[in-house]
Order: sequence, then structure tokens, then C-alpha cells
Amino acid sequence: MSSRIAIIGAGPAGLMAAQVLSNAGYAPTVFDAKPSVARKFLRAGRGGLNLTHNEDFALFLSRYFEAKSFLEPALDAFSPDDMRLWAQNLGFETFVGSSGKVYPLDKKAAPLLRAWLHQLRANNTQFKMKHRLVNWLKDIWQFQTPDGLKEYSFDTVILALGGASWPQLGSTGTWTKILQNKGLKITPLKPTNMGFNVNYSELFRKKFSGSPLKNIELSFKDIHGNFHSKIGELLISDYGVEGNLIYTYSKFLREKIEQESPLNITLDLFPHRSLNQLKKQLSSKRGKQSLSAFWKRFGLSGVKASLLREVLSKELLSDPELVANTLKKFPLTLESYRPIEEAISTAGGLAFENLDKDLMLKDFSGVYCIGEMLDWEAPTGGYLLTGVMAQGKQAAEGFLNAQS
Ligand SMILES: Cc1cc2nc3c(=O)[nH]c(=O)nc-3n(C[C@H](O)[C@H](O)[C@H](O)COP(=O)(O)OP(=O)(O)OC[C@H]3O[C@@H](n4cnc5c(N)ncnc54)[C@H](O)[C@@H]3O)c2cc1C
Repeated sequence: MSSRIAIIGAGPAGLMAAQVLSNAGYAPTVFDAKPSVARKFLRAGRGGLNLTHNEDFALFLSRYFEAKSFLEPALDAFSPDDMRLWAQNLGFETFVGSSGKVYPLDKKAAPLLRAWLHQLRANNTQFKMKHRLVNWLKDIWQFQTPDGLKEYSFDTVILALGGASWPQLGSTGTWTKILQNKGLKITPLKPTNMGFNVNYSELFRKKFSGSPLKNIELSFKDIHGNFHSKIGELLISDYGVEGNLIYTYSKFLREKIEQESPLNITLDLFPHRSLNQLKKQLSSKRGKQSLSAFWKRFGLSGVKASLLREVLSKELLSDPELVANTLKKFPLTLESYRPIEEAISTAGGLAFENLDKDLMLKDFSGVYCIGEMLDWEAPTGGYLLTGVMAQGKQAAEGFLNAQS
């Protein structure tokens, strides 16, 4: 087939589009700014490569927040089960880990990516690396390359240019200017799945940066007044807090802190003990024991004990009632959120209203947009990779249907 198809952006979204097209007999060319493909996908492998999530499909869909109805057709056609089948077809079995997260057995991205690229090349997908898209003029696509500016024209273009987090891996969000110049609506790019700044004392910061805060319950009200609460684990970082529990709620916390900064949220440092139990334990006879040794008897030590010392003066620490209340309702003040460059992923992007049901630009026939560059977000947990690859499949199948 002679159609000149370009896929610009060699992340998982673009590669999935290439897979569907090359399986159908087309020979797409994948362009990327970087010298090698899918650097963010490879980086995801360092965390175990959480491909998808094993849970009830309605719950799975709800993870995409307001974008869920727009993404539903793509996720129906490329569900978490399809993601597992996809990996299996490349020779990689998957398993369901803790809390439903799905990983390849070896938890690595590089072997899976190698097999994927091998299959794509065998099916006539071509690759042009070190080609940074810098402009789109009528039917001309301009790329900055090591040999200078190069111009191409194509019959069909699939843009899969990613968000703006971890820009060192290739996605810098510079496409926003190119598409804005075409009159397309872009929701400002913002961080999601990111950390938050907290003003700890210097002593606390030095001692506990990098320490997990396990088995705690985080609670807050979102901008609509809905109450959220979940037990999990935080990571104390040099600047504040990060980790799964924070990432799960990063969208709601970002929205709230944009309205109200600093933002107070509540931690229950002993969610499996009642207030009365704690009061009783802390009111028991201390004898000659130091306060730290006494607290240790009830499991109050390390980072949790030091957090208490961050908010209560020395005199108040020996008031069992106040200490118990503080442990159950610890006030954590989030000052601001971390920049997009440090976030796991990007919120905002090309608005869905620019796109038709196949993710083709309504105003530019033959130009599709997919992946993290679109205006949606989801927590970590495998929802991101499933979301972007599902869109790659949706756009490529939309193209194929339009040919038949
Ligand atoms: C540290 C980390 C760990 C992660 N772990 C997981 C995980 O375990 N599970 C999960 O579901 N998700 C995870 N993610 C998120 C996931 O990797 C991304 O959501 C996904 O890679 C986005 O896919 P994409 O194809 O839309 O964009 P990208 O993967 O960002 O790919 C876009 C490509 O476009 C290229 N590009 C950008 N601009 C241009 C241009 N102007 N010209 C040419 N090429 C360009 C880039 O070089 C890049 O190769 C992780 C992210 C990070 C940062």
C-alpha cells in the first residue's frame, strides 16, 4: 500500500498505532526527536513496568476522571485483558501483583520493547530518529535533524508527542505552540502524579528524607466538597511528600491547592487503632521511662514520633489526650505542588473537542492525535500505559476503517 503514513512520537502510543497499521499491511514511518525510541516506557521499567490494572472494568474506567466517557471506546477495544494478551503475544507472561497492578513476569521494559520493535520492523515499520518536529505548515512537516531542517509531506499523520514531564526522556510539550498556531484548543499542561512541598524543620528533613510513612490514612475534601480518604503509604522526600497515596489523589489535591494555598490535609498515623485505644495506651503508667522509650512500647517511634515533634512543643508531648488526638488527626500542610518536569505524567493537553471519534482532528482531515498529549489524566497503577496504547489502537483502526 502506497499511503505515506507518518507517526510522530515513538512512545507506547505511537508504537501501538504503528503495530496496528503495519499488521494491516501498511508501512508507517515513525519519527522521534530522540536517538532511540520509547525512553519513557523504558524508564517505567525501572519501577517494574506496571502495564495495566486488574479490577472491575467500571472502576477501571473511573480512574480516567472526566475523560472517562471519551476514552471508553478506546479502552473497550483495548482493555486491561487485551494489554495482557498483547504482552503475551510478544512472548511475555504477566502477573497481578499487590492491589491489582499488572506487570510482566520479569518486571522489565527493555526485553518487551526489543521484541516489540523486532515485530514492528519485520512488519515494515520504518524508524527515523533524531527528527524533532518543529513546524507544521499547510501540508509540510518540518523536522530539525542533525543534517539541518528537513521537510516532508504525508498522506496521514499520527501525532503521539507525549506530555511534558521528565523532558530529558524526549517529551517536552513544545508541540503545544505548533498546534495552537493551527487554532486548536489546548488545556494548559500541568503536573499530575507529582509530589507536594511541605515545610519541615531542617532536622526532620535531614533525618527522614527518603523514609516511607507506612500504614497511614490520608483524608481531605476536594474542590466540590467530596470527602476522600485512603489507607496507604507516603514517602517523605527532601522537599515534602510523594508516593502512591499522594499520586492517587494528585489531581484533586492540585485542583484544591490552586484554590487554597497552603492546603491542610489530615493524616491518621494509626488508622488501625481507635482514638480511645491510643488514649488508653498513652495514659498508661510510664514510670521512669523516657518519653521516646514509653512511646516505643506502642509502636510510636521513628518518622511518626518525629512528625509529632514537628507540630507539638515539648511540654505538650506529655499530654496523652492531645497526643492521641494529633496522631489520629495529624495536620499536614502542603505548600505547593512540584513542577511538571518532575511529575510522572501530564494533565491538560489537546482538548477532546478538537477530535472526532477516531481521534482525528476535525479541522485537519488525516491528522490524528493520541496518547499523553491529549487532555486527560489518570493515577499511576498501569492506567497511563493502557490509556495511551488504547488510543494508538483507536486512531490506527479509525484510519483503517476510513480506507475500507
Ligand atoms: C518515571 C516514570 C515511570 C512511569 N511508570 C509507569 C508505569 O509503570 N505504568 C504506566 O502505566 N505508566 C507509567 N509512566 C507513564 C507512561 O510512561 C507515559 O504515560 C507514557 O509513556 C506516555 O506515552 P506516549 O506515547 O503518549 O508519550 P511518550 O512516552 O512521552 O512518547 C512521546 C514521544 O514523542 C517524542 N517527541 C516529543 N516531542 C517531539 C517532537 N517535537 N518531535 C519528534 N518527537 C517528539 C518523544 O521523544 C517521545 O519518544 C511512567 C512515567 C515516568 C516518567
